[in-house]
Amino acid sequence: MIRCKECEHRWSAEDCPVCPRCFARDLSNRRLISKKHDPGELPYATRSFRSVLSWELRSEMSAVVRAVVEHGTWLRAVNHGGNPCIYFCGRLPSVPGSAVFGGDSMPTVAMDGVLIADAWETPHIYPVESAAVERGISVGVFVGWEKCGVKNCTFMAVPGNLACAIHSVPARAEIDESAPKSAVPADAAKGPSRG
Ligand SMILES: [Zn+2]
Ligand SMILES: [Zn+2]
Repeated sequence: MIRCKECEHRWSAEDCPVCPRCFARDLSNRRLISKKHDPGELPYATRSFRSVLSWELRSEMSAVVRAVVEHGTWLRAVNHGGNPCIYFCGRLPSVPGSAVFGGDSMPTVAMDGVLIADAWETPHIYPVESAAVERGISVGVFVGWEKCGVKNCTFMAVPGNLACAIHSVPARAEIDESAPKSAVPADAAKGPSRG
């Protein structure tokens, strides 16, 4: 585990590149729902297929964002500039949302997952079908988020940075001394190699 320098929260940088508590707070201060995914715009037709959030999810947005950031999977969207996105399919306050087929103005089929796309630059949230994301992973449209460039470091790289929260400069986190030694890769504790 590592400890956030800003809020002291401890987290596993093997699962989330940045402090999930600070990041969820930052995301909650942003406008994450675009018009085409907003249930408040219904009935509303677009030419192409889209997904629309449920009312319940929209009204519980900060709890949803926290769940996605703390328990979701960081992926790299290969076909979308390699942007980071966070996928979550699990316990939420309600059904995440539904699909609206091209030309329709109301949603029909329920969807079981949520994605925060382009999570770092222009984050936006919408429901997804878990089967579609899993298919995307199996064909390489989504790949695991990048690891830190420091040799033997197993932590994820901070988006826009080649190094993890420990090895980026300035560091965003520090090794939690109270954690078992095995939680910290031996070479990772030495710092970035300049060679
Ligand atoms: Zn923090
Ligand atoms: Zn690292």
